[in-house]
Amino acid sequence: MIAATTIAGDGPESERLDKLEEYDILDTPTEESFDRVARLISQIFGVEIGIVSMIDGHRQWYKAIQGMIARETSLSETFCRYTMQGDKAMVVPDATLDPRFADNPMVTGEPGVRFYAGVPLRTRDGFNLGTLCAIDTKPREFGSKDIAILEDLARVVIHDLELSQQAAVDTLTGALSRAAFKAEARRHLALADRSGEDAALICFDLDHFKSINDTQGHAAGDKVLAAVGEVCREHLRGSDFIGRLGGEEFAILLPKTDIDGGVQVAGKLREAIAALGAEFAFSISASFGVAGRGGKFDQIDALLERADQAMYAAKRNGRNQVVSEAGATAVPAAPRRRVLKAGKIRNLNGRTSLDCTVRSIGDDGATLSVSSPLGIPDDFVLAIPGDNFESPCHVTGRSEHAVEVRFKR
Ligand code: GH3
Ligand code: MG
Ligand code: MG
Repeated sequence: MIAATTIAGDGPESERLDKLEEYDILDTPTEESFDRVARLISQIFGVEIGIVSMIDGHRQWYKAIQGMIARETSLSETFCRYTMQGDKAMVVPDATLDPRFADNPMVTGEPGVRFYAGVPLRTRDGFNLGTLCAIDTKPREFGSKDIAILEDLARVVIHDLELSQQAAVDTLTGALSRAAFKAEARRHLALADRSGEDAALICFDLDHFKSINDTQGHAAGDKVLAAVGEVCREHLRGSDFIGRLGGEEFAILLPKTDIDGGVQVAGKLREAIAALGAEFAFSISASFGVAGRGGKFDQIDALLERADQAMYAAKRNGRNQVVSEAGATAVPAAPRRRVLKAGKIRNLNGRTSLDCTVRSIGDDGATLSVSSPLGIPDDFVLAIPGDNFESPCHVTGRSEHAVEVRFKR
């Protein structure tokens, strides 16, 4: 039987996941500054494994890992979920003697964990995003000096995360960071409120980018992102501005442009991005959603949400296309909202429960990330405790780390 796990109470956990989403770090490629910290952990303490991890709704994801080849583990198996519950270090000198961990598969099987020391990665406003930990296959002690060093390394990591969040311009693509884009857009929309001018917002997301990374490598993926940023700048006016909202997802605000104008610009960009395929010798495309400023007091979040829903409709319709918010409603399936929420997959008998992360949700169904789709039945109850949501569902699709469900009402 698979045990359910919770990090904290349901309310705080949903806020924590919102915070984690703001940092936009999950599933990003490795970066030297974090790799260095994982190496330092292993060197300073003389342990086999050093980890910098983020705790998602259902899994522990490794931003950097030294001494082990893995990208993630399901939450139910990690020691770190205990570390996440507090604001202090957790030290387990010998896991075989600790009733919480003695029968953990990481202890009884590979890699045969004996020693664990972890500290939470805590933001200044008090949210634990993940952990730093030192792990070894031999028991050992870990004194207060060691804990102080690990805590210092955690401060370095948080400082790095905060710095990259504050940067106004993303160095890879030349686009504004998410926070800077939203601030700029807010200022612009306030001006448009006074002058009564139009504004259009385009959202786009590269298609099947995971498989570009998987087949061509992360470095090639990065080159594609840089080329996309360049192509956008070539085709836009000086007054337009572009933001990188997440990994391979962008938004563009077009001042003094109505929605039809926005659809035209998106069409040009779609062609220019698809044409990059010839340069790279593998196919590249993006799906676009366009929304128009709906009058006074239309806020950037609302515009983004509408453009995003249109973009999702473009994905569902087969990708590599432009959908406007007006067109999105004509798409038969109900729109989905992109979210990051902790969910539970419960068997119909209600006795077993498995963690998942809800990535998108609509009236008709949802997309769930899971550690492995094996063992998930075709019919189950999805619960989102933070939202008091519960619905029976039927699985309509499975991939390596995701299941697609339709709600049964
Ligand atoms: P879809 O068509 O549905 O959008 O498919 P997708 O594969 O693009 O799906 P998804 O949006 O889930 O995957 C985005 C991937 O982009 C996951 C992540 O590894 C990768 N990625 C995010 N940021 C970067 C980056 O800075 N560089 C590289 N090379 N890859 C990145
Ligand atoms: Mg994508
Ligand atoms: Mg994406």
